[in-house]
Amino acid sequence: YDDRDGMIWLDGEMVPWRSANVHILTHAMHYASSVFEGERAYGGTIFESRKHSERLRASAKMIDFEIPYTVDEIEAAKYEVMKANGLSDAYVRAIAWRGAGEDMGVASARNPVRMAVAAWTWGNYYGEAKTRGAKLDVSKWKRPAPDTIPCHAKAAGLYMICTMSKHTAEAKGCSDAMMFDYRGYVAEATGANIFFVKDGEVHTPLPDCFLNGITRQTVVQMLRDRQIAVHERHIMPEELEGFQQCWLTGTAAEVTPVGQIGDYNFEVGAMARDISDAYEKLVRT
Ligand code: PMP
Repeated sequence: YDDRDGMIWLDGEMVPWRSANVHILTHAMHYASSVFEGERAYGGTIFESRKHSERLRASAKMIDFEIPYTVDEIEAAKYEVMKANGLSDAYVRAIAWRGAGEDMGVASARNPVRMAVAAWTWGNYYGEAKTRGAKLDVSKWKRPAPDTIPCHAKAAGLYMICTMSKHTAEAKGCSDAMMFDYRGYVAEATGANIFFVKDGEVHTPLPDCFLNGITRQTVVQMLRDRQIAVHERHIMPEELEGFQQCWLTGTAAEVTPVGQIGDYNFEVGAMARDISDAYEKLVRT
């Protein structure tokens, strides 16, 4: 992704894509002091744009730094990037981090906080699985406990185990991995939340130690608007056998049906397809 034409917003200025670089002694690269957002624009409008900008600022606070831009300034930067790259349907990546500077130890209060926004075209996150149903591996890594890491931040440090889980999954021919939490309850995939259907009702893990995704919140509301019961609760691994449908939600994943998790199979059923289609319509209205 580094060698291409285009413009990236970096610390308040538009710079050519290939020149949007950081120094090797960037604090974030050594100590994971970085937070980011994944957003999608549909027909020129970023879905839930302000919520993403607010979450970016909130994530930074959770890992102990302040982004030196207001929500309005972040909004302007995102749209400026889309315009500079001639994009209307796009994936938008905003990122803020502790840069290089005075300190090179764990503490970095004197280093500048930096921010960038890039955008590019990104189709279906799970490719063909979007219609056929994704196959998920089961990760050996657990979502960590709230008193071991700021688990509600969309922070780079939380993705180390996600990358490892996804590599293992892909090596087995799966699209992604489902992760359990530190207690053994079903949590989420490596970059998306998870939903299950049983006898016409929906069950989704309580997001008490992982990201309560913006897409997740949107889909819960969509289901409730349709008078479908949604149970946000702790889900035991043994329960997987009894669920008939499953899908993932996320900005990149949108609503992707799941056909298999480990040894358990799910039908790509009417509710999964209906919610996936309805989400596609909603993001464009
Ligand atoms: N969980 C994780 C770990 C994620 O990376 C994402 C994607 N941001 C989500 C859930 C879904 O969040 P959202 O719907 O806000 O994109």
